[in-house]
Amino acid sequence: MRQSKKPRVIIVGAGFSGIFAARELAGGPCDVLIIDRNNAHTFLPLLYQVATAAVESEHIAAPVRGVIRAMGRKAANLDFLMAEVRSVDFAQRELLAEGQDGEELRLPYDYLLLAPGSVTNTFGVPGADEHAFSLKNLEEAVRLRNHILRSFEAAAWTADADARLNRLCFVVVGGGPTGVELAGAMAELMTGALKRDFPRLGLNRPCVSLLEAGDGLLPGFPQNLRDYARTKLTAMGVDVRLGAQVSRVGAQGAELKDGGVIHAATVVWTAGVKGEPLAVRLGLPQAPNGQLLARPTLQSLEHEAVFLAGDICRAEHEGRPLPMFAPPAIQEGRHAAQNILRLLRGEQPRPFKYFDKGMMATIGKRAAVARMGGLTLKGLPAWLLWLAVHLAYLIGFRNRLFVLANWAVDYFLSERVVRLISRRNPLE
Ligand SMILES: Cc1cc2nc3c(=O)[nH]c(=O)nc-3n(C[C@H](O)[C@H](O)[C@H](O)COP(=O)(O)OP(=O)(O)OC[C@H]3O[C@@H](n4cnc5c(N)ncnc54)[C@H](O)[C@@H]3O)c2cc1C
Repeated sequence: MRQSKKPRVIIVGAGFSGIFAARELAGGPCDVLIIDRNNAHTFLPLLYQVATAAVESEHIAAPVRGVIRAMGRKAANLDFLMAEVRSVDFAQRELLAEGQDGEELRLPYDYLLLAPGSVTNTFGVPGADEHAFSLKNLEEAVRLRNHILRSFEAAAWTADADARLNRLCFVVVGGGPTGVELAGAMAELMTGALKRDFPRLGLNRPCVSLLEAGDGLLPGFPQNLRDYARTKLTAMGVDVRLGAQVSRVGAQGAELKDGGVIHAATVVWTAGVKGEPLAVRLGLPQAPNGQLLARPTLQSLEHEAVFLAGDICRAEHEGRPLPMFAPPAIQEGRHAAQNILRLLRGEQPRPFKYFDKGMMATIGKRAAVARMGGLTLKGLPAWLLWLAVHLAYLIGFRNRLFVLANWAVDYFLSERVVRLISRRNPLE
């Protein structure tokens, strides 16, 4: 129930942008309402570890109310609403959402920060939406984990050799960081814990294909790191195919534009993202990939009181659109919040400047790549850096502790701790 007369800022999305914006606004001269369809913030960069049975889904998510509480007394001006945002009445400055009982909520705002993230983009490839697995939220990660484990259980009792092999083969589409990390983790799962769990399957090599339409893995990374990632994955037994454009996905595998077919019961699509569909419903100017166009100050082109941040926002750095990654999302969230505070003080909003801290991706145990400024790292040093950075940004002390414990078990024993097929997933 709203009683205060302070200006109200509504933040749509409790992802990286939304949470970092809220931290900035805590203690400010405004009431802040964070809205999300889920009651938790999810650390998406570790979704692939949930999918490959390395960490529990609960350990990479933190309840939004807990995140607010952890900010201390200065967060007394923050509140949370679990609801699905449907649209915005920009003329009336009202946000329309659906509450937990399906009721329609009309929520007035003085400033609005839109940070609803992105969804998988299958670019209209036939069969991809129906047959390929996607990895954009916790439910999808658990669904993929269940599917992988079920495929092994089924393969163990499949007499026909071809059908058995089909169940044990996996295709990952997209050679960006998510595809590389998932393919590496799948290979380690198959030659580690699952090889020991299913001795009669005689798994000597993983059957994982990584398909990338371009001429190399990890676009945007320095060439030596891209080459290292390919060499390392190949050494781990992953069948890396470059220039491999998928033309169709079916229940039994993927077809390539050059006529090739890869037989596999599991195809995972990591080849693209586009702005969250809410963006289309808002009717604001959009880029072709569904992102919303923003002014340099991160305000929407058409409405001064509306700010954009994260994957949904088309912001630029050195004349090129920023990638849909966590560091831009965090910095944009913070900057948009600071600009809202400036406007509340009667000052002018400032243009956003991205500070490029670099990029990193892990490939497998003791193998990662990282670029920090002009410095490139690979192998063990990059892997240790990757571990440290991911633990630091994972929200919640308890989550960090559990994830670290699971990583230690995996590292020392090659054991994946979460090999349960859960029956509670709403997607199945
Ligand atoms: C599998 C995977 C691996 C990744 N790995 C990396 C990595 O290694 N490094 C890296 O930098 N980046 C990585 N990313 C990208 C990074 O996670 C995103 O760029 C970042 O999460 C974007 O932050 P955001 O705040 O814009 O959106 P999100 O973090 O996606 O948050 C958006 C929030 O909005 C909510 N929401 C959306 N629509 C509505 C609605 N209509 N109503 C209510 N709530 C809504 C969602 O529930 C969600 O909580 C990865 C992403 C994925 C999916």
